[in-house]
Amino acid sequence: MKYILYCRKSSEDKGKQVLSLESQVNEMKKLASNLGLEIINIYTESKSAKKPENRPLFTEMIKFIKRNKKENLGILCWKIDRLSRNPIDSATIQWLLQQDKLKIIQTIDKQYLPSDNVLLFNVESGMANQYILDLSKNVKRGILTKLEKGGWPNLAPLGYLNDGKGGIIQDKARAKYIKKIFTLYSTGNKSVKEIADILFKQGFRSRQGYKYHKSKIHAILSNPFYYGVMQKNDKQYLGNHKPIISKKLFDSVQEVLNKKANTKKQKLYFTYRGVLKCDTCGCVLTATKKKGKHTYYYCTNGKGICDEHKTYLKEDDVSKELTKMFDEVVISERLINMCYQANKAKLGQTDEYLEQAKQNTQGSISKAEERKNKLLDLFLDESITKEVYNQKEKTLNNEIVRLKKDLEELNKQKKQNSDFTLERIKNVFLYPIQAKKEFEIRKNNKQEIITKTLLWNASFEKQKIANLSFKEPYNILSKIENKSDFLSVRREWDLNPRSAFGGHRFSRATPSTTRAISPFCIYTYYNSC
Ligand SMILES: [Zn+2]
Repeated sequence: MKYILYCRKSSEDKGKQVLSLESQVNEMKKLASNLGLEIINIYTESKSAKKPENRPLFTEMIKFIKRNKKENLGILCWKIDRLSRNPIDSATIQWLLQQDKLKIIQTIDKQYLPSDNVLLFNVESGMANQYILDLSKNVKRGILTKLEKGGWPNLAPLGYLNDGKGGIIQDKARAKYIKKIFTLYSTGNKSVKEIADILFKQGFRSRQGYKYHKSKIHAILSNPFYYGVMQKNDKQYLGNHKPIISKKLFDSVQEVLNKKANTKKQKLYFTYRGVLKCDTCGCVLTATKKKGKHTYYYCTNGKGICDEHKTYLKEDDVSKELTKMFDEVVISERLINMCYQANKAKLGQTDEYLEQAKQNTQGSISKAEERKNKLLDLFLDESITKEVYNQKEKTLNNEIVRLKKDLEELNKQKKQNSDFTLERIKNVFLYPIQAKKEFEIRKNNKQEIITKTLLWNASFEKQKIANLSFKEPYNILSKIENKSDFLSVRREWDLNPRSAFGGHRFSRATPSTTRAISPFCIYTYYNSC
């Protein structure tokens, strides 16, 4: 199969459409290479398609297709309306398709095949709608092309101005401040807030005369636009505008930014922050780093009633103690599989029931259709009047519609939900087993993730765990009394309402300071590593 690329711009709006033609060709070439299509001929035309005989290249292309005997040919074009916006051209194309001279028309989002009759339809009735769709696509296309050509399609960033002709020029009054912001920050001894204060005194202010907030300064410091690179939707483009700073200065600023972000993180990072509590007074334990190495947790005695506050808990000891949480929620894989199989079998029965219901419904539909046919025979034999026929036919039709709807519902119900829930419950039961292994390896921040996934908090007394409070749905596992007894495990599995295990309920219930990760994701994650 060989393709002919046909692109057209209309003469209606020259300024905009010049871009369009160019990007049409580019986009179509990209599409062709994505789909692995071979292009043998390109026609680009700058004429309106409203009247036939207006487009010499279109006519030439049609001739080429008609003459062709060797190749299987297809047309590649941006949108079907690029190819045809009048009935005569549509008919020509349609005819070529029907004669098998043309095997396919491939557009950016659709395929038109000889068996389709959509081409005419599109041209005649879908136009208004199609026009709007095209327009929005055209706008996006225009933006992309502008960026690729080095132009900025939005409001100019602070320090620049839009020149009103689509270009970007430096804002002489503000550009010097931008440069100063970068220079000051690159020294590493001024904070963003200090810079905002300093520059405000020197006259750097908003059009209303206000001081720029430090977040604005921060945004400026991270914007590559100032050294000539435009960022849009995570993609970077080389800009035509004149840079205010050098790439070197920008890079050194990024280094300072990264360093500050890291030291900030290090200062704040404690594995079990927010999870550990003092069992005596109920306070949350605070953490500290001693000699810059070991982390200790302790009660701050916030209520002034606690004797525990002189006890320091070493993080390693806390980790050792915390492994006890797994005793509460780990159930043997063998038992989990037994429950899973048992429930799967039960589900199988449900499936059988559904299958039966489906067959019955299907049977009723066939019967009703049969009766409809018989009714027609009676009417044609003149055994019944038209009135009787109409009335009975209507009743039967309604019945068929209702039955078909039922069947639709039954088809939807089948499996998916119940199967999915079952899998999910299984994964919840399995997660602690995986988590225990990971926790004992003590790598990266998995201890933190695991602890915060399983626990609301753990309270300590005399350096030992006194109480554990589990998050949903693991609190259900912790309630199973005899974890090595199949029936006890099975009971909890069956008892727990779908809501406990379904959806994202429990991840939303976790506090915002905690990374919310569903066990479903985690289990998948573990398995994929
Ligand atoms: Zn305390």
